[in-house]
Amino acid sequence: MVELSAMSFSFEVIKEIPERLGRAGVISTPHGQISTPAFIPVGTKASVKSLAPEALSDLGAQAVLANAYHLYLQPGSETLDQAGGLGKFMNWDKPTFTDSGGFQVMSLGAGFKKVIDMSLGSLDSDEAMAESKERLAHVDDEGVTFKSHLDGSMHRFTPEVSMQVQHQIGADIIFAFDELTTLHNTRKYQEQSLERTRLWAIRCLDEHKRLTDQRSDKPYQALFGVLQGAQYEDLRRKAAKDLSEMKSSGISFDGFGIGGALDKASLGQIVSWMSSELPSDKPRHLLGIGEPADLFAGVENGADTFDCVAPSREARTSAVYSENGRFNVSSASYKRDFSPIDKTCSCYTCSNFTRAYLNHLFRAKEMLASTLATIHNLAFTVRLVDRMRQAILDESFLEFKTEFLARYQAKAMD
Ligand SMILES: [Zn+2]
Repeated sequence: MVELSAMSFSFEVIKEIPERLGRAGVISTPHGQISTPAFIPVGTKASVKSLAPEALSDLGAQAVLANAYHLYLQPGSETLDQAGGLGKFMNWDKPTFTDSGGFQVMSLGAGFKKVIDMSLGSLDSDEAMAESKERLAHVDDEGVTFKSHLDGSMHRFTPEVSMQVQHQIGADIIFAFDELTTLHNTRKYQEQSLERTRLWAIRCLDEHKRLTDQRSDKPYQALFGVLQGAQYEDLRRKAAKDLSEMKSSGISFDGFGIGGALDKASLGQIVSWMSSELPSDKPRHLLGIGEPADLFAGVENGADTFDCVAPSREARTSAVYSENGRFNVSSASYKRDFSPIDKTCSCYTCSNFTRAYLNHLFRAKEMLASTLATIHNLAFTVRLVDRMRQAILDESFLEFKTEFLARYQAKAMD
């Protein structure tokens, strides 16, 4: 098993940012390589909304991340298994990721809407909210019971179920099942949750080993442990240390996912706490992060890959990105603006269409509006992280960061 893993999944650091934890590298999977740092577009239900895989490939995407929770409910992970795995099913021949389903189980499951708040807001103490108020009643030490957001049917995810579902889906990189907490949980609850996630991580390794042996005819799937700990330095460092030293059934994690509640203001610091505890020869994925300033903070502090629904989700609401910041292309001021969304962008949309045309498509509610805006926002985000990689190789990362953010943040969002 160890030999197989070493043969079909590996990570190599090529260059580091001097006096920082960031690096450029290459992840190798059975479906090809990912040059890191890299932004990975999200194809929640085995589809990046409004894009055919060819468009995704053309805009520079190196991999796709799908959601185990959604695919488990629809069409069912057995269907993907029979199809030959996620990549074959969606006709995407490059690397794939699935998340564990934990995030969706706990954020879409019955009873809690919008509990995942990425900012601390007015909270000034971790005791600011009563423990009973945000307590996720469906979580117990064995797993999570949840109600399908599609038809209300009851389901149960345990670490073992998550591994079974992710093996059937068959992505190259899969994640351990973790408990999601929010910044509003109390410190005491974060500690209990971290311990529960640690015990679940051991169970994930055991089940992953069993399934890998049982399904030895399938391409090797790399398992990443997920690190929680909210905004607490000691908990974040403990999670990183525990999971990097963890060994069970003779195997350890192939990489790590940095997850959970993150106060965006201290994102870089949180990533740096964890990166300094994690082994440098294993890749680190920052879950659910995609805003330019956050991507710079993540890369600078040692994150290798990122995924986020924001670029494609915002595109569908006509919010598009440019070197000079984000703007709403459907607003009246672009009605007769015959320039591309971003003059410096060479994507299919910017090479062929004007702001005026996109403005018209959005106002006329044409489906092509979503497609063209999604192509641009994903191309922009993928290329931004590709440029960070090049800047690391050229030893100019910090200069590039300062220069890019000064321009990007100069204009107020409209
Ligand atoms: Zn573009």
